Amino acid sequence: MITMSHVEKWYGAFQALHDINIDVHRGERIVLCGPSGSGKSTLIRCINHLETYEKGEIRVGGILLGNQAKAIDAIRREVGMVFQQFNLFPHLTVLQNCMLAPMRALGVARAEAEERARTLLARVKIAEQAEKYPVQLSGGQQQRVAIARALCMRPKVMLFDEPTSALDPEMVKEVLDTMISLAEEGMTMICVTHEMGFARQVANRVIFMASGAIVEEAHPAEFFTNPRHERTRKFLGEIL
Ligand code: ATP
Ligand code: MG
Repeated sequence: MITMSHVEKWYGAFQALHDINIDVHRGERIVLCGPSGSGKSTLIRCINHLETYEKGEIRVGGILLGNQAKAIDAIRREVGMVFQQFNLFPHLTVLQNCMLAPMRALGVARAEAEERARTLLARVKIAEQAEKYPVQLSGGQQQRVAIARALCMRPKVMLFDEPTSALDPEMVKEVLDTMISLAEEGMTMICVTHEMGFARQVANRVIFMASGAIVEEAHPAEFFTNPRHERTRKFLGEIL
């Protein structure tokens, strides 16, 4: 589904990603973790071309992600993304936020876009807020809208970049529960998160990064009980 091979990325003279190799198969749930600045956001942002990369290859569903606008558009249709800051359009209602991309990018008719949006808003348990503006919602509600909005594009993969770290503690669970139900339905997911309970429950693979490189990857049962590398042990000691 997603293949990254020998990917290297620089910000100017600073190398942010070193020889990244990842294969994500359909239905996999990957948790990506590591210290601040280790390159987690950079890595997942490369997958939908929010960042460019200088060396190696990224393929999504067989499409090579280079610099051609056509490939970038094709991949962005398949890959949904949810950010730490919800990035909803403030001047649009919840419903309009969810309808915009399917209408603009996929040419879905208005009635169909609205039906999709209402169905997905119900699924993230927020149907009654459809006519409100983002500012009128709690952080947890806004993040669930952001998830519904991404799902309205019917993506094949969902990328999450610390979706709960800007939330008040009491709202974290509602967002994680939404992500867990998505995983249970078989969605392919890559989640950057420090929610290790979520990782244990949902991930089939945990990837640990440090200094722009993948240090270790393992099934959560193995990763948490028997980390192989000193850097992983140190990281787990700090966050658990
Ligand atoms: P965090 O846990 O704090 O979100 P991260 O693992 O997501 O960290 P990245 O945001 O991917 O880390 O950053 C990786 C490295 O690249 C950091 O050293 C960061 O300073 C650097 N970096 C990120 N974005 C840029 C940029 N636009 N220009 C220059 N350097 C950048
Ligand atoms: Mg980050």
